[in-house]
Amino acid sequence: MAEATFHFPRGFLWGTATSSHQVEGSNTNNNWWAWESEPDRISLGQKSGLACDWWGGRWREDFDRAAEAGQNSHRLSIEWSRVQPTPDIWDESAMDRYREIVRRLVELGMTPMVTLHHFTDPLWVADQGGWENEAIVGLFEKYASRVVEALQEYVNLWITINEPNVLAVSAYLLGVYPPGKNDLLASMRVMTNLVHAHAAAYHAIHKQQSTARVGLAVNYRGFLPARKWFPLDHLVAKNHSNLFNDFFPQACSSGVLNFPIRFKRLPLAKNTQDFLGINYYTRELVSFNLLYPGELFGRRYFPPDAELSETGTIANQPAGLFEAIKWGLQFNLPIIITENGVEDADDSLRPRYLVQHLHQLWRAVNFNFPVKGFFHWTLVDNFEWEHGWTQRFGLWELDIETQARSKRPSVDLYAEICQENGFSSEMVRRYAPELIGEIFPD
Ligand code: BGC
Repeated sequence: MAEATFHFPRGFLWGTATSSHQVEGSNTNNNWWAWESEPDRISLGQKSGLACDWWGGRWREDFDRAAEAGQNSHRLSIEWSRVQPTPDIWDESAMDRYREIVRRLVELGMTPMVTLHHFTDPLWVADQGGWENEAIVGLFEKYASRVVEALQEYVNLWITINEPNVLAVSAYLLGVYPPGKNDLLASMRVMTNLVHAHAAAYHAIHKQQSTARVGLAVNYRGFLPARKWFPLDHLVAKNHSNLFNDFFPQACSSGVLNFPIRFKRLPLAKNTQDFLGINYYTRELVSFNLLYPGELFGRRYFPPDAELSETGTIANQPAGLFEAIKWGLQFNLPIIITENGVEDADDSLRPRYLVQHLHQLWRAVNFNFPVKGFFHWTLVDNFEWEHGWTQRFGLWELDIETQARSKRPSVDLYAEICQENGFSSEMVRRYAPELIGEIFPD
């Protein structure tokens, strides 16, 4: 068989993504820390604790490893509760720490991408009603301005809010994130405030930094009609996609919030994305079922023959990444894959998952779809929200008792890909030989 290498465009961003609460440790002043101390909230009653001890300084060694492994970018988030621990205190020493962190990335030749909100709220914000209270819009705008003022020397790629769609669903409909609600009207209020806060922050950032590129990271989930011949399956799959995938990027491009039963105009939100951030993990089937009124009459399940991740929360569906990118084209924006990865402690699936998804990404690039970068989730095993430490998404394995990091085989695979700015048949033969016929057919 012929040897081949599939390359990506020059200047492509290759990195990993992390978030403050998941890696920093000792984040005692936010709503997640409080949530973790309540019974039955987290698998096995686990806690974030020291996490990866980044606040204790271990970000240095992790960044060194990432740079050595050829990554030219890193996506991280700022912890609002550290920067503004109470309404009237701005903690300059925390801000200095973040400056040091992003400066180091630049020194290492890694482009920093900074997320301002990744699921956690300061306790004082949560006490005021969090995302249900419209007051959060002004508060978030002020916080965003302070962060940009402090970090703009090193950062011009910004994500305002990570996965507003997951936040609205998990915290206000499913109740698995704080504040643990099950309330449709509250979730609609929250969705409005999330769009509004994003828009306010977008303008505040641009006011200070003309070169800023600002976006959202939306979690795109594939919803396929289970029975291709059945129109109602198509309808429910489409409804799921409209509400989960489309709502936020559409609102931030049109300035219209399309709720299923009404719409609302928010002109401030119009054209408030300079790029589209897509987090893609998986895809599922949806079938029409009258027993699921709370889920828009759609029963969702993974394809029966799909390869599942260790704890069964992700089905390996690489074609869904290509679909996600095609879907993203409607917004006419550059696209960045801001997260993609799989939980897999023994690294038996990750190399295959990685290569198959990057193959779909490469296909997209060859259709001239404007994809500019890829961030693998994640660098080192970190605190996985309601799953605690039971899911391991890291390239590097973390021993939470000793803080020791050890390399999974995927580290070297991803390093070779980043260094080559592409992947070759030879690499695939070494790391995921079972894929050679699929990706490099004769
Ligand atoms: C979130 C991450 C999370 C990852 C893996 C994404 O939806 O942004 O914080 O760790 O999924 O579950």
